[in-house]
Amino acid sequence: MSRADEIAGNLTAVRDRIAAACRAAGREPADVTLVVITKTRPASDIRILADLGVSDVGENRDQEAVGKVAELADLDLSWHFVGQLQRNKAASVARYARYVHSVDRPRLVSALDAGAQRAGRGLRVFVQVDLESGEHAGRGGCPPSDVPALCAAVAAAEHLDLVGLMAVAPLEQPPAPAFERLAELQVRIHADHPAATLLSAGMSGDLEDAIMAGATHVRVGSAVLGERDDVR
Ligand SMILES: *Cc1c(COP(=O)(O)O)cnc(C)c1O
Repeated sequence: MSRADEIAGNLTAVRDRIAAACRAAGREPADVTLVVITKTRPASDIRILADLGVSDVGENRDQEAVGKVAELADLDLSWHFVGQLQRNKAASVARYARYVHSVDRPRLVSALDAGAQRAGRGLRVFVQVDLESGEHAGRGGCPPSDVPALCAAVAAAEHLDLVGLMAVAPLEQPPAPAFERLAELQVRIHADHPAATLLSAGMSGDLEDAIMAGATHVRVGSAVLGERDDVR
């Protein structure tokens, strides 16, 4: 089987899962955007995805993303940055990303805002929430109690648009209750920031739970492109 056939089959299966989850949740499939996470995968895979109608792709390392963005400049893709972000990479990310899903501290806000201004483009920002508790806390994401202040900082930044919240399901806990906590926090944030309507949650293993909780953006890697060798 060719790589294109393999990806096409996987993509159909994931789109079917999204559609079924939407039916179960009483939601429209058009309200859920599939962001295919292409980290560690070659640009040729992204070309195949684009041929199959995928327009949103996500990367988690700036250096890797920069190379692919350059190689695929002829395609009309929306790039999502989903990884832990260093302040000194913010200006680079602002040049190609349409969305950043991983803003989790105030110092990143000013760096991204400056980067977006220099790049002459707006940047859509999800604030990443840390849903972990106990020993796994602190793997990225803002503690829930700090989320309102961080969202206010993003909303106040001239070149950033606060679009919503993002989270990764906690390790060693069922995803559904964690995504429900995220959705409750999103309701509070939306009350203060009416433009913040998006929720980025759900990956290959838990996209159904995320869609049930209201996810508008699911970030799916291995279910479309196969298992990665390196776990990241
Ligand atoms: C890798 C990654 C994903 C995709 O994970 P899969 O389990 O391969 O679907 C989603 N979100 C983030 C932040 C990631 O780093």
